[in-house]
Amino acid sequence: MLVLTACSGEKDTSNGKGDQLEVVVTNSILADMTKNIAQDRVKLHSIVPVGKDPHEYEPLPEDVRRASTADVIFYNGINLETGGNAWFTKLMKNAKKKKNQDYFAVSDGVEVIYLEGKGEKGKEDPHAWLNLENGIQYAKNIEKELSKKDPENASYYQKNLQHYISKLAKLDQKAKEKFNAIPATKKLIVTSEGCFKYFSKAYQIPSAYIWEINTEEEGTPDQIKNLVKKLRDSEVPVLFVESSVSDRPMKTVAKDTSIPIYAKIFTDSVAKPGENGDSYYDMMKWNLDKISEELSK
Ligand SMILES: [Zn+2]
Repeated sequence: MLVLTACSGEKDTSNGKGDQLEVVVTNSILADMTKNIAQDRVKLHSIVPVGKDPHEYEPLPEDVRRASTADVIFYNGINLETGGNAWFTKLMKNAKKKKNQDYFAVSDGVEVIYLEGKGEKGKEDPHAWLNLENGIQYAKNIEKELSKKDPENASYYQKNLQHYISKLAKLDQKAKEKFNAIPATKKLIVTSEGCFKYFSKAYQIPSAYIWEINTEEEGTPDQIKNLVKKLRDSEVPVLFVESSVSDRPMKTVAKDTSIPIYAKIFTDSVAKPGENGDSYYDMMKWNLDKISEELSK
């Protein structure tokens, strides 16, 4: 059989071949943040595939296996993977993992916004990462736990974090300037899921949606009717559709209001590797650019 001694060897932190920290994250956004901080010094497994909905998910046997052996697990928290069918809560129970010991909510420390709709009131809105300032907080939380679990690489993680934070902060600053320039009557982001509350607050631009959160029914006739009614009184030039939901309900809204759908935007997942928006930074830049360009016209 293969060389078992490799497992009991000394910790090799330099070349990616040794006894690396095993990290599991719940989705592609957290995976990208972790990569920016740890580069190739950890073994990383991301659960929800690119382009899929992280609210409702059924972990595969591979996810269960990787979660069971993981040294550290990162999840968004605030009602994302723990809302709806609570797939992450079940996964952690099956893997016999403990909160704040084995698994950590990267949203810890952000100012939470709450849902408003019928049946959702009082629940946390999970989409905190759509405000870049919160994204920076996520990255800090990830670095903190990686450094604790893997102190030999702590200074490396801290250095990468500083570089990453300054990149995100610059993008945040630019976005704020861009959105200031949009005329007030056109300032409305219309998406399928109401995932832009944090974004709206950060960049001072209101949002409207068909359904409030992906764990409820998506695109019922009533939900569509309500949005169409709201849009008839607005001068908003364009509608947006997220990459991780069906575009069918928004197409109905576009038909009923004669407002065109513009670009795909990225909210609950990064883009496929090699496409525009395939990292957290790039997906935020894509969103900020497309939204500000289209609403300025
Ligand atoms: Zn969502």
